[in-house]
Amino acid sequence: MTVRYEVRGSAAVITMDRPEFRNAQNSKMTYALDAAFTRAVDDPAAKVIVLAGAGDHFSAGHDIGTPGRDVDESFERKAITWWDHTTRDGADRRMSRELEVYLGMCRRWRDIPKPSIAMVQGACIAGGLMLAWVCDLIVASEDAFFSDPVVKMGIPGVEYFAHPWMTNPRFAKEMLFTGTRFSAQRAYEVGMINRVVPRPELESATLELAESIAKMPAFGLALTKRAVNQCEDQMGMRSGMDSVFGLHHVAHSHNAEVSADSLGGMNAQAMKAAS
Ligand code: ZN
Repeated sequence: MTVRYEVRGSAAVITMDRPEFRNAQNSKMTYALDAAFTRAVDDPAAKVIVLAGAGDHFSAGHDIGTPGRDVDESFERKAITWWDHTTRDGADRRMSRELEVYLGMCRRWRDIPKPSIAMVQGACIAGGLMLAWVCDLIVASEDAFFSDPVVKMGIPGVEYFAHPWMTNPRFAKEMLFTGTRFSAQRAYEVGMINRVVPRPELESATLELAESIAKMPAFGLALTKRAVNQCEDQMGMRSGMDSVFGLHHVAHSHNAEVSADSLGGMNAQAMKAAS
């Protein structure tokens, strides 16, 4: 299993469980997350959803090099966004896949009617940011660090391009232009996360926050979440992400034309060496 599901108190805790690969997100994990979020929405015992990562790190981002990398596989889709990428080629194939598993699923998870909290320790890199950002609240431990280094691949940020709204336009440029890590404290200062707590208190602080939210009426919470999300979209997030998704795929296509592959020949090792 790549994802665990358990109910603790009033919270469904969904845990990414590939700690040997810093929870690198392959498609198997993505579809398992989709199933876990669906289960949590339908689970009357779950008033709040907590998204966690097993081990020392929340998420190393999308799987670009573990033995379980599965970009060419087809998975059973519960909610259709586009056609199955494995039946296509070229830009069609890449865009079909990313529209489904990255932009489409992240948007659906962001809009589910129950409040969600990301519980972040250690690395939260690139695609890991997307998973934290789709949650309503983010609690991080002091050792957490964040970055979106995909500009090193010549790509303008991860697929769910929420950077300017999750932080602010100037900090978004800094994090993308440099690709360097920033601390939980810095993330807190730019408004990206709600709380920074000592590592040993991460779980208790997150579950405590979940319990305090769980006391509120469920429908009231759902409407409130929808209200804030609608306002965020009125601030341009949804249309901004749509337009940037096009730029993202220009970059993938450019890489595919002029280099070894759509990632500019970069794998996990090359990304690390370039940092
Ligand atoms: Zn991409």
